[in-house]
Amino acid sequence: MADDVQGGRGGAPLGPYRRAQVALNVRVVPDVPSFAVDDGFAYAVPEGLDPTVGSIVRVPLGGRRVRGWVVATGAEARMGLREVLSMSGDVPAFDRALLGVLRWAAARYVAPLATLLAKASPPNIPRRGKAAGYAPLGSIESPEQPALRDLGTGSRTIVVAGRVPLAVLAALTGRQAAAGRTSLIVAATAAEADAVESELRGRFGERVVSGGSHRSGAEVTRSWVAGATEAGTIVVGTREVAAWPLAAPGLAVVLGEGRRGMKDKATPTVHARDLLAKRAAAERFSLVLSDVVPTAEALARAGSVSAIGSRGWGLVEVVDRRADPPGAGLLADVTAGALRAAVADGRRVFMFTDRRTTTMRCTSCRTIRRCENCGAAPGGGGECRRCGAPTGACAQCGGRRFEALGAGMSRVASEVARIVGADKVGEAGSGRPVLVGTERDLPMIAADLTIVVDADGPLMAPTYRAAEDALRLLARAVAAAGLGRGRRALLQTSDPGHPVIGALLKGDPVAFVREDSARRAALGFPPGGEILVVEAGGLPPGADRELAHEVGTRAAVLGPAESGGSLRWLIQARDLASTRAVVRGVVGRWREGGARVRVDADPIDL
Ligand SMILES: [Zn+2]
Ligand SMILES: [Zn+2]
Repeated sequence: MADDVQGGRGGAPLGPYRRAQVALNVRVVPDVPSFAVDDGFAYAVPEGLDPTVGSIVRVPLGGRRVRGWVVATGAEARMGLREVLSMSGDVPAFDRALLGVLRWAAARYVAPLATLLAKASPPNIPRRGKAAGYAPLGSIESPEQPALRDLGTGSRTIVVAGRVPLAVLAALTGRQAAAGRTSLIVAATAAEADAVESELRGRFGERVVSGGSHRSGAEVTRSWVAGATEAGTIVVGTREVAAWPLAAPGLAVVLGEGRRGMKDKATPTVHARDLLAKRAAAERFSLVLSDVVPTAEALARAGSVSAIGSRGWGLVEVVDRRADPPGAGLLADVTAGALRAAVADGRRVFMFTDRRTTTMRCTSCRTIRRCENCGAAPGGGGECRRCGAPTGACAQCGGRRFEALGAGMSRVASEVARIVGADKVGEAGSGRPVLVGTERDLPMIAADLTIVVDADGPLMAPTYRAAEDALRLLARAVAAAGLGRGRRALLQTSDPGHPVIGALLKGDPVAFVREDSARRAALGFPPGGEILVVEAGGLPPGADRELAHEVGTRAAVLGPAESGGSLRWLIQARDLASTRAVVRGVVGRWREGGARVRVDADPIDL
């Protein structure tokens, strides 16, 4: 921790002699993505500036002027310090509590502290507006769910299995706003964030502000300032807003906590759910984690689960494709019949397709192709795309032809056109009775019949969390058909006995995820174990042995595997706390030597 000496400007008045000896100074972390500046540097504060922890400043650094953040203030008897040049705006990017969480994240994601401080900051210079305050709110209804009704202040975490209806979101955030507390809502995609924002804005007006990468820098900065300075603001956005400072925070809601959009792909690979869980504890606010299928990580954080409604999705029927002859069409006869009947009845149909080019199966016996060396899906080539081992014929029948699982949208559309006519089928948003789409389209689909063209792709994905992810994706696709009479989903698969299919039929995701979590823990996978992936390109000769050598006996190190000119290691243990610091040292040295290094903590595609 940096030095943090109290008693500068806020302390007793200093005499003229002392004033000459003691310069007020601050510790500043410059905006340079390097571990070397994590501790920051001391700068003197000139007359007229009044920086606090979190202030964004400009400082001289090695002949340049750079942005930086004040991480500590204090009086220190050191002369000859360079001076802070200016302050950028008048709203701090973090307070001590949030700074503590950002330091935790820098260690957790093995990232330079500056990259985390940048996440808490707005794109433009933040200036306090005239603090007019918000208009008072009328009466706010109470959520029907007892667990949600009791959410006040404090750091309770509640897991909701299911979608949180907009009316419940409005009740939750409205009650916080009426009590003068700020709420934060994080959605998985910009479209979903926008839908929530416009609904809440209709009820609560200007106190609802939005952030996210799809908005302009000026707009995001205005929203950021409102959230940071005006208690009672409701901030809605994508994962970027999870690191924003909040005035009097009362509640954060993560919608779709298991969705891919919640985690950054670039360094630092922060997961919005995990960052907010840490913040909720440090800054003492309530946290609601919701998903149609809760993650093992969320269930590990909260003992009890609240349900909204009785069931997250409707009736599911499985179409077994095992008996289909080789070369059978995309849709089984029974599926084609259901499609024809639905269109004749004037019902809306959604054809869900999920194409996985990384997972292949034998065209003659439909067995999934697996690498004999590492067990992963090796892709379609002659070498495993994960470990590089040579791959051969189908292990089951000796066949040598393989196909990607699932089908592209155009192939599905032409098959549907052949059955019900080309004028009946289109993409999402076309208004045609039969819509063909992928995961991207799910948020905007409402249908009477969902047809999952090929469930095997998600089911057979070679990642440690494939089962949970497959259940989530298929449940969302199935849920597009809604609940009620005559509504249902048909799911085509060549593995009808798969446990995920069983959980879909039962409609009980929580029991399934708990079981899957125990299975993962036994193998040392998250959340029962921890994983770091390190990818490096441009290493000097011999450097590739350093990682295994230095991590030594602390954790298992697999690799390096070579792919596309870079090397990839997997580091795994029950607890990687002490290992992260060692990896940080190695990665820092490699980067200083000019190598390109990416670290992924708790990877979701492994
Ligand atoms: Zn392999
Ligand atoms: Zn085969």
